[in-house]
Amino acid sequence: MISSLQLRINLHEEGKPDGLLNKAAYDLGVKSSEISGIKILRKSIDARKSRIMFNYKIEVYSNEPMPETSAHNFDYKDVSEGKPIHIIGFGPAGMWAALRCIELGFKPIVLERGKNVQDRRRDIKAINQDHIVNDDSNYCFGEGGAGTYSDGKLYTRSLKRGDVRKIFESLVFHGATDQILIDAHPHIGTNKLPKVVTNIRETILKFGGEIHFETRVIDFNIKDNQIKSIILHNGNELDVEKIILATGHSARDIYYLLNEKNIQLQAKSFAMGVRVEHPQQIIDGIQYHCKGEHRDALLPAASYSLVNQINDRGVYSFCMCPGGFIVPAATTDGEVVVNGMSPSKRNNAFANSGIVVEINADKDLYKYEHHGALKGLEYQKDLERLAFTSGGRTQTAPAQRLTDFVEGKLSTDLNPTSYQPGLKSAPMHSLLPKLIGSSLRKGFKAFGEKMHGYYTSEANIIGVESRTSSPVNIPRNDNLAHPEIANLFPCGEGGGYAGGIVSAAMDGERCAEAACV
Ligand code: FAD
Repeated sequence: MISSLQLRINLHEEGKPDGLLNKAAYDLGVKSSEISGIKILRKSIDARKSRIMFNYKIEVYSNEPMPETSAHNFDYKDVSEGKPIHIIGFGPAGMWAALRCIELGFKPIVLERGKNVQDRRRDIKAINQDHIVNDDSNYCFGEGGAGTYSDGKLYTRSLKRGDVRKIFESLVFHGATDQILIDAHPHIGTNKLPKVVTNIRETILKFGGEIHFETRVIDFNIKDNQIKSIILHNGNELDVEKIILATGHSARDIYYLLNEKNIQLQAKSFAMGVRVEHPQQIIDGIQYHCKGEHRDALLPAASYSLVNQINDRGVYSFCMCPGGFIVPAATTDGEVVVNGMSPSKRNNAFANSGIVVEINADKDLYKYEHHGALKGLEYQKDLERLAFTSGGRTQTAPAQRLTDFVEGKLSTDLNPTSYQPGLKSAPMHSLLPKLIGSSLRKGFKAFGEKMHGYYTSEANIIGVESRTSSPVNIPRNDNLAHPEIANLFPCGEGGGYAGGIVSAAMDGERCAEAACV
């Protein structure tokens, strides 16, 4: 017999090897020995009260064997002779577009400006240690896109935009832990992602797709509302039939190119701010109602999600990384951009999160109107340059103690940090544009009221968190092609259709389905 159960167990029961089994037997009124197996469908932690509980959704098998969980079978076809689909960019959108092309019998030809994950590592090291930013290989560009050296949080709110479960199963198929199929807040970790990305590459090559690294697209030849060919950085020209443009929101050269060619673009609202870094123990202490250093071994590093409306403007936490690192995510020299990531164990001593302010493209950017559809992009660039100059013209980032920022005082010294290129004390309260600075100051105070202990001088704010989502939208029709260029399919975060790994992957699948006809 199979019974479906939702049950809650406490920390003590969670720690016992048979805790879940005994609780299931008790709830069903059977002996533990009658249970032949338990399949966990969902697991989450409820830490709202001081008595922390684990919520489980399970299937209990009694007096019959539990069937082996069958891995999802992906219907990948040999596409070596298939019709080509050119995909620009090999981030999550480009990767899942390529995989979907293969399922549909079309041959993906991927053009990626960056290097493969192994070679990319050296450039990541150079940013952190030598402050050298390679324009084609960095935290945003290269195999796996911005999703590779990331946190690998797989949470998405875009549940209606595609098959989330299929994306998770394909991640597991390519080497991610199957725990992501169960956890309410699934996460892979930056140490595990490169292997998953490498396995996806191998699937694409095995079934006849092509991937060209260190291949930057610099121009398009357009005739009769169609892109006829693509020009590469080395001067080579490729004839094309259909193009999925999955270049992400940091590929500013692509926005400039489209704009110069008078291909319709639209300014889009987005968000910017800073990254805040606390000792993880402080966040654990608040969220688990304990002294942080005494977090129970069964509990993961605690996270948080905060949002507040300040004068009708949203101020919210973004991409929170428990037990993580702050990383330099610039894509060219002369700018400082911060983001966060964490390893699978989330065992670093710091908790960091973007705290960002909504920027309304229609109301807030009047000084940038002359840039047309690129006004948000130019605003973003200005703030990143400001961070560069105030940080000391390297990848050292400007920073301030949280309480000093709110009180408008320069910090005489800063707290320890996970940000490898280092921090420089700067008057962020006067440097940030008023609209961002004043909203952040009020936001931080409000967050301190929601989470007692959050507003503390033991936290630093670090600037700037500017690449939360695309400030530009590349429009598309109902058939997902650009309204003016019939064979161009703007895709993923760069088009303005995704925000995160899973939503970008799902959009990649959708664009492939639209292009493969
Ligand atoms: P991208 O991942 O940006 O990929 C675009 C690709 O296109 C890049 O590889 C780039 O090199 C290539 N490209 C650009 N221009 C050209 C060109 N001209 N020619 C050829 N190739 C080109 N999201 C989450 O959901 N969870 C997280 O935990 C998370 N953590 C993050 C941590 C960091 C440090 C960063 C930077 C991002 C993080 N994100 C996270 C965001 C997530 O990575 C992105 O939302 C996602 O990668 C977007 O996917 P994409 O395929 O649309 O674009």
